[in-house]
Amino acid sequence: MTETRKRVLLAKPRGYCAGVDRAVQTVEEALKLYGAPIYVRKQIVHNKHVVTTLEAQGAVFVEENEEVPEGATVIFSAHGVAPEVHEQARERNLRAIDATCPLVTKVHHEARRFAADDYDILLIGHEGHEEVIGTSGEAPAHIQLIDGPEDADKVVVRDPAKVVWLSQTTLSVDETMETVARLKTRLPLLQSPPSDDICYATSNRQLAVKEIAEQCDVMLVVGSRNSSNSVRLVEVAVDAGARAGHLIDYAHEIREEWLDGVTTVGLTSGASVPDELVMQVLEFLAARGFGEVTEFVTADERLTFSLPQELKRDMKKAALSQPLG
Ligand code: SF4
Repeated sequence: MTETRKRVLLAKPRGYCAGVDRAVQTVEEALKLYGAPIYVRKQIVHNKHVVTTLEAQGAVFVEENEEVPEGATVIFSAHGVAPEVHEQARERNLRAIDATCPLVTKVHHEARRFAADDYDILLIGHEGHEEVIGTSGEAPAHIQLIDGPEDADKVVVRDPAKVVWLSQTTLSVDETMETVARLKTRLPLLQSPPSDDICYATSNRQLAVKEIAEQCDVMLVVGSRNSSNSVRLVEVAVDAGARAGHLIDYAHEIREEWLDGVTTVGLTSGASVPDELVMQVLEFLAARGFGEVTEFVTADERLTFSLPQELKRDMKKAALSQPLG
């Protein structure tokens, strides 16, 4: 009797993007430079493991600036904040370090520019997501949220010749294009963002998953429930042909029954997930006979972002004040 060959198809790119890497490093460097506690407004990135690891090092996660003692250091998360959050920090005399991903900042700039030109801005994104709240705060009087294709049918604008769509950076590329197509049937003069708002990391991870999905009996996505790009990866995998898809924070969350009758497992991770968690899933699978692992590489990512200016300036000052050894 021949034994069925069990295998894992591992997507690449997966895991950390440049914006997450920079945000996590910002907290780590701030802890080294200023010492604990360092306050972080909202989860620095949407990943349970990253947050608990930083908490153990002395980071204190809060929801709002009011929870930060006057004069203390606060870091704003990778998802970005509305201008009023910077204002509150100034009023409380906080040392604010902004770890907003530069690709989110780019969308904020677009929102400000189109609002200054008196456009109606249709922001495609998920209601209540921190990034959407931050971007909307740049021009609340000009921005309306479009949360999925159905919302496209309800939109009302002042001048159909002066309207532009922008988007959250971590959406499904396909669903966003569907929403835009629906908006354009009602607003043929709708303008597109000057460059893609859905970021390179989101697009690359979705493309890599699509490449392997059809061959997979089940797709496992390592990521947290509040991570938009991770949740999208499960949806994209199933839409692209994976028989099932599951989101997990840790290997131990995999249910044995998910592997019943399975020969091919697809594996990837969201942009806020350290690769050690993916390696733990590979170990879990290997212990159940899925020892053969093939990595499918669909893009080579080399982008990096430098640390926030305000932190770099203080790091430089500290280095200069060190006694020479
Ligand atoms: S997912 Fe994209 S926008 Fe978000 S932090 Fe990563 S690179 Fe930046």
